[in-house]
Amino acid sequence: MTSTALKAEQTGAKLIDGKAVALKMREAQRARVEALQATGVTPGLAVVLVGDDAASSIYVSRKVKACEAVGIKSISHRHPSSITNEELLVLIGKLNADPNVHGILVQLPLPAHIDMAKVLETIAPEKDVDGFHLYNVGALVVGRQIFPPCTPYGVMHLLEYSDIPIEGRNVVVIGASNIVGKPMALMLMARDATVAICHAKTRDLGQWTILADILVVAAGVPNLIVPQMVKTGAVVIDVGINRLPDGKIVGDVDFEGVRKKASYITPVPGGVGPMTIAMLLENTIQSAERKAGLREPAHD
Ligand code: NAD
Repeated sequence: MTSTALKAEQTGAKLIDGKAVALKMREAQRARVEALQATGVTPGLAVVLVGDDAASSIYVSRKVKACEAVGIKSISHRHPSSITNEELLVLIGKLNADPNVHGILVQLPLPAHIDMAKVLETIAPEKDVDGFHLYNVGALVVGRQIFPPCTPYGVMHLLEYSDIPIEGRNVVVIGASNIVGKPMALMLMARDATVAICHAKTRDLGQWTILADILVVAAGVPNLIVPQMVKTGAVVIDVGINRLPDGKIVGDVDFEGVRKKASYITPVPGGVGPMTIAMLLENTIQSAERKAGLREPAHD
């Protein structure tokens, strides 16, 4: 047994406190925004919300509040779900052309009548702070990070912050969505991890998870990961956010059980969630820095 594994058995896993890391990043981000303002540029983030989905509304409010905390000017565009595809595309076009807007975020999910793929493709790649435009997805595939999608980018920061080695490690990512699982796997591969991706059709999930030195879980299924599926000393990152019938928010991992076996673990809430917002601020500030010539341009 390695010394890390031994420590975990004796004392339980170390908590990776995403809230604290995000707050620490915020101090540095505020200073960078002030430096930008000194050159006459205030970073601007346009947030587009369509419909009245309660969870989306909460997420948008949190993002707007976080922007304010570091000095980013956020401009909310709230529209009823009756907005047409065409009207939404016209709005995106205007935001693309607005020099005060450095980032455009369209809160997902969109109502069924809206062509989400078309909307995402219409966002100018150099303002695509969520990293969902095909150009940015392609950049990630070939190992160029322009706007890495915020949630997996946040996970990478947590691993780095905790000095967790990635190169050569066995990593299992559970969940293969375009916004979390797939980009997560690509980012870890770019850091020379050996990566397996599991999903809802994977047979015998436990035979994969038990191999993981680093296990990233993003399925949206409470208690999907129980202690017997986790290698002693593994690093467990829980991306899941699930609301139980009693209103409690939990991740995908049996936290109390798995923390006794893991070496590091993220709590829910307070783990990956705050980092997603921190990385949105990061991408928006980077976009403004590129525009102000304080950073290399994103496009050749
Ligand atoms: P999604 O529904 O688009 O994808 C879920 C993925 O998990 C799919 O690939 C599916 O095949 C897989 N999956 C579902 N059930 C499974 C099972 N029983 N075994 C193995 N794989 C299974 O969801 P998403 O948008 O990728 O989000 C995943 C989770 O992460 C959700 O709980 C979501 O709320 C959460 N999330 C959190 C943040 C954050 O900031 N912390 C950000 C985005 C998403």
